[in-house]
Amino acid sequence: MTTISTNLQAVRARIAAAADLAGRAADDIRLLAASKTLPPERLREAAQAGQCAFGENYVQEGLAKIAALEGLDLEWHFIGPLQSNKTRPVAEHFAWVHGIERLKIAERLSQARGAQRPPLQVCVQVNISGEASKSGVSPGETAALAHAVAVLPNLRLRGLMAIPEPTADTALARRRFAALRELRDALNKTGLALDTLSMGMSLDLEAAILEGATIVRVGTAIFGERA
Ligand SMILES: *Cc1c(COP(=O)(O)O)cnc(C)c1O
Repeated sequence: MTTISTNLQAVRARIAAAADLAGRAADDIRLLAASKTLPPERLREAAQAGQCAFGENYVQEGLAKIAALEGLDLEWHFIGPLQSNKTRPVAEHFAWVHGIERLKIAERLSQARGAQRPPLQVCVQVNISGEASKSGVSPGETAALAHAVAVLPNLRLRGLMAIPEPTADTALARRRFAALRELRDALNKTGLALDTLSMGMSLDLEAAILEGATIVRVGTAIFGERA
């Protein structure tokens, strides 16, 4: 067995244990392999070990891997910051975009996606820990953006995504993830139907699952430390 397949098994076991603790079905939590900076061979190893969804942060790098691994039937998620001049290739080659934080980007994605393909699945990114440097809209701005994105024709707004600052304080981590869940629940009372909470990474996936994560984005725990 390769290290990657061993690591994947360990991550799946962590997800199952956290789901169990939360009284949730492990199947309700999707594992997204965050594969930035890794060569396609490592992703292929993960795919051979049963991993089918990958998250990429950089457009050119992601496109190169999508081309290199064509035929493996993988699902590609764009999880990095997206500039408006890069929306077309992302709309054409990815299935999901997690980091929507401006209406203009969403509009361009919708236009580039077109009506012929299945809708692009998107999440609005929320800056839940309130850091000035972090991407994402503030909780107070989320409803306006979410409602504007939800009516764009070729996108399907699935939910919210957050990358809270890392903390060793698990109670604090849980409060932040809970805040994202509460925001999602509040939006669903205003006519939206959001089923996705994209939150939790290698160090805090348990806290995220306990607070309702439906997608955890995991890099280091699968592939090892990035160079
Ligand atoms: C790199 C990355 C991850 C995974 O982080 P790890 O700590 O390596 O698990 C998750 N989400 C995003 C947006 C990332 O860029």
